[in-house]
Amino acid sequence: MNTIKSQFPIFENNPDLIYLDNSASAQKPKQVIDALTDYYSKYYSNINRGTYDLSIKSSQLVDDSRKSIQEFINAKYAEEIIFTRGTTDSINKLSLLLFFNGIIKENDYIYITEFEHHSNILPWQNIVKMTGAKIQKIPLNEFGEIQLDKFEEMIKKTGAKIVSFTGLSNVIGTIQDIKSVIEISKKYNALTAVDVAQLICHSKIDVQALDCDFISFSMHKLYGPTGVGVLYGKKELLERYSPVDFGGDMIKSATFSSCELAELPEKFEAGTINIADIIASKSAIDFVSNFGYENIQKIENELIKYSFEKISDLEKSIGKIQIIGYGKEHPEKRSGLISFVLTGISSFDIGNLLGNDKICVRTGFHCAEPLHQSICEGKPSIRISFGLYNDKEDIDKFFASLQKNIQRLI
Ligand code: PLP
Repeated sequence: MNTIKSQFPIFENNPDLIYLDNSASAQKPKQVIDALTDYYSKYYSNINRGTYDLSIKSSQLVDDSRKSIQEFINAKYAEEIIFTRGTTDSINKLSLLLFFNGIIKENDYIYITEFEHHSNILPWQNIVKMTGAKIQKIPLNEFGEIQLDKFEEMIKKTGAKIVSFTGLSNVIGTIQDIKSVIEISKKYNALTAVDVAQLICHSKIDVQALDCDFISFSMHKLYGPTGVGVLYGKKELLERYSPVDFGGDMIKSATFSSCELAELPEKFEAGTINIADIIASKSAIDFVSNFGYENIQKIENELIKYSFEKISDLEKSIGKIQIIGYGKEHPEKRSGLISFVLTGISSFDIGNLLGNDKICVRTGFHCAEPLHQSICEGKPSIRISFGLYNDKEDIDKFFASLQKNIQRLI
């Protein structure tokens, strides 16, 4: 076992495991698991309500976690970090905030791409249903890159209330020029929201440098616990909006007929939040920070190049494989994953057979059906996605099993 894997108990308990489904969720380092058990064993209590030591300590640990995420994404203020259940929850919350606060109305334009995860399409469809606003497709090329000139032409004509797009698609894996998209959007007074659920696992996010209004991500993809997401929003915007969830912990005072809202971030965190997982999220942030994005990229980029060599070898025996996005000529233009289509072979069957060999990859549409309809005639794909613990041996085992099982199915 490589030394990085040895920091992840799952590999010790499953020595044959080949885990290449990191875009769906990443495994957890021991320090994150320890933080969870430590918290439940030593400090557990509810936060913000108690006057006793355990509650004061728990509240402090949640504050520490918020602060560590603030620093990690270089947000100006800790109050700009709103804890949610995950990226999906963050984007739903954002879309409802813009609806209930009267920002998006009938005939307004919402710009998204066709290559989004469903969680950045369906919430906006819902807003369209409620308001009569319109969704406009941001123009992309076949590799999933936003066509900046065409985009500017369109937004100049229609205007937009929000431009919401992914920084890195969970299927095509193309590195996007986020900064330019934000700059253009701002020129036409549109709000900007970037789904960095995938991107933040491979690249540093600096919200001030990007100057984006909102970002969303999930801790479980970033080696942290499940059930914790972040909605970052610029303080001046969040301060202006009324919340969409109401109840305990989000008010200063209440009467039977009205309430006075709490300040940020509590205003947007009604009820008991996911205290333990939020606290353990700090350990995941520490882990990734100590490991360093440079090292993550070095490992993963090497695996992307190596996988393309293996795909070329496989093509010698089974013929051309359709790669979704940039191919072997431009490995530098992608990050973290490779998806490909095996024509004539059931992706469900191949996924099951790989699973029998203890190889975990994703087959199907990966919650991005419009992307598959647009780019590969609605055929499902196989996705291998890399984490910082993967190595060439994982890739060798995956391709050996894939080749063996393709022979069984054809
Ligand atoms: N956005 C992207 C780009 C994703 O890859 C995913 C999950 O795969 C999501 C959003 C949704 O994340 P979650 O299921 O954690 O809410």
